[in-house]
Amino acid sequence: MTFEELKLNKTILRAIDELGYEEPTPIQEKVIPVIMVEKDIIGCAQTGTGKTAAFAMPIIHYLHKIGNVKNSKKAKVLIITPTRELAQQIADNFKLFAKYTNITHLTIYGGVSIKPQIEQLKKGADIIIGTPGRLLDLHKQNHLDLNHLHFLVLDEADLMLDMGFIDDVKKIIHLTPETRQTLLFSATMPLPVRELAHQFLKQPQYITV
Ligand code: AMP
Repeated sequence: MTFEELKLNKTILRAIDELGYEEPTPIQEKVIPVIMVEKDIIGCAQTGTGKTAAFAMPIIHYLHKIGNVKNSKKAKVLIITPTRELAQQIADNFKLFAKYTNITHLTIYGGVSIKPQIEQLKKGADIIIGTPGRLLDLHKQNHLDLNHLHFLVLDEADLMLDMGFIDDVKKIIHLTPETRQTLLFSATMPLPVRELAHQFLKQPQYITV
């Protein structure tokens, strides 16, 4: 299969081509078409399989399609991930694939000063990538508006469980619209992760590689 066959828009295809990616990885081949028909997903995949691009590409495709006429400064995508490093890696992916669009993203994580993050949130972005604790802090301080989300991505769910973030993650999910499309990725599927998926995803398609 080719990226063209996945019907990603031309701006993304151009960026992919420049990166020298020849074909989609197996997780990308399976996940991208399902995200594009607006279904929830449980993706069982390790790091290194290309899973970040598997959600980043169709999210950019969606944002490009809806354009930025409406609510341009409101976050339409929230990606929750366990660590600062992972947040940064995800941001790097979005930067690459959204190169020829005007889609914006910002990262939110703990262990650094909160003030610059508040300033960034005031300016707004289409995509917010963050770690659970700091996202909740910023919401408590009224700086994080999650009412206009289309996508919620839970990345490395098993790691978030291991790190004790699951209650914070649940609190954040409760702040998002019921109409959202939810994508959950996890390298393993322990019971609490399956329960989380059962509680918060709507008729999810289970995809594994
Ligand atoms: P990830 O599993 O998201 O951490 O991605 C692992 C690595 O694979 C990253 O360095 C990506 O840039 C790279 N990658 C993702 N998709 C492709 C692809 N279709 N072809 C070649 N490399 C890719």
